[in-house]
Amino acid sequence: MKVEGAESKAATLLRKIPAVDELLGRDALRQLQAHLGHRVVVEATRSVLQNVRTRIMNGNLKSVSLELIERESVTAAEASAKFTLRPVVNATGVILHTNLGRAPLARNALEHLAEVAGRYSNLEYDLELGGRGKRDVHTDQLFAELVGAERTLVVNNNAAAVFLTLNALAEGGEVIVSRGELIEIGDSFRIPDICAKSGAVLKEVGTTNRTRLADYAKAITEHTKALMRVHPSNFRVVGFTERPALAELVELAHRSHLPLIEDLGSGCLVDLAPLGIQGEPPVGQSLKAGVDVVTFSGDKLLGGPQAGLITGKREFLDRIRKNPLFRALRVDKLTIAALEATIRSYLAGNIDEVPALHMMRVSREELTARAESVAKRVANGPSFSAVVEDGESVIGGGSTPGQSLPTKLVAIRPASLSVQEVESALRHNSPPIITRVEGDRVLVDLRTVFEDQDEEIVRAFERFA
Ligand SMILES: *Cc1c(COP(=O)(O)O)cnc(C)c1O
Repeated sequence: MKVEGAESKAATLLRKIPAVDELLGRDALRQLQAHLGHRVVVEATRSVLQNVRTRIMNGNLKSVSLELIERESVTAAEASAKFTLRPVVNATGVILHTNLGRAPLARNALEHLAEVAGRYSNLEYDLELGGRGKRDVHTDQLFAELVGAERTLVVNNNAAAVFLTLNALAEGGEVIVSRGELIEIGDSFRIPDICAKSGAVLKEVGTTNRTRLADYAKAITEHTKALMRVHPSNFRVVGFTERPALAELVELAHRSHLPLIEDLGSGCLVDLAPLGIQGEPPVGQSLKAGVDVVTFSGDKLLGGPQAGLITGKREFLDRIRKNPLFRALRVDKLTIAALEATIRSYLAGNIDEVPALHMMRVSREELTARAESVAKRVANGPSFSAVVEDGESVIGGGSTPGQSLPTKLVAIRPASLSVQEVESALRHNSPPIITRVEGDRVLVDLRTVFEDQDEEIVRAFERFA
């Protein structure tokens, strides 16, 4: 009896479910269709109705309300129309956070990008001659001025830069690399694998911790096409170690009529030693030492768009440019525009315009003042206590391992919630706020937070009240 009653109750409720078209004719959903398009709204409405049906069958819905279904459909449609790629607030203190998009672009880069991308441009058009030009010209001269390169090419990322360089200069022959430099960068970029795919045979020399010039010299045969040096970006071998000076390697390569390729990885354009960051050789220094081809990333220490830079001597760069793979790996106008603007900031001496560099250089006083202000406001309500304490920011992006920048952290302790609940709620905030959790505290490092986002953080904490 009972079961039958439940069934007929469900059947009655199911009959009350409105038709999709009836819902779509209602004001809120009609307006939304004009805004988001018919398809998105129909699909959202259908899925809400399906959900209502399921809830009725499971006995979890006691009545059918047209208004409620309408509201849920609006929410669902708006949620599905939201971009999945969205800005977040990076409160982790990791400046080049690979998961959070690495380097944020400078304002002038964004402006230039918008200006160029929304209209036609002279990407490959020579305005002097009135005919076809090359996209290389927009960055080539700038890198010549900035790092003293004879020629520079831009490809999709540094992985592509290394791959293309090896393919163009060493395919079918051997490339000599020290065993201490056979590194892996995140997301399965491994020097031996890239080498193999490029068609060059990797000839390993030396040992993990020590490789001498003589090891390279002994390995050179008539099959050798290049020597390669790789910057061990994300780790350091310490202790009983040895590797030849760059100048010695240059000398050996040139004496043997071979090019020396250097994968610098992070691509530092200014000396970071004054900030206490060691072991990131500037690109210009390698070129000056005589390295023939240097590769590095556009969105690591350079602070620009994702790109791979291949720079150095014309003789080799011309060969790389002629390789058919260049076409497959080249970048579009968006990247070129952002890169050009970023490099111009360097040339003008305005490196604080580049957000990643500004974050590295921001003063302790400024960080302290902002942290104190945020801490005071977060601790204002009953839900949290907050203090400012010393901590460390890191550069990230697989660079400068084991090194950090002293910072001021806002350390927040929730009164009743767990830190995991707070961290998760912040992550689901709009905009999402990404923090660190340590013990029973949520840590906010304002070094990587844009100043106008301090307010978002405070407001997100106020929402817990
Ligand atoms: C980061 C890095 C790469 C890969 O660069 P992407 O721009 O991420 O492709 C290659 N080599 C070294 C040494 C690196 O540090």
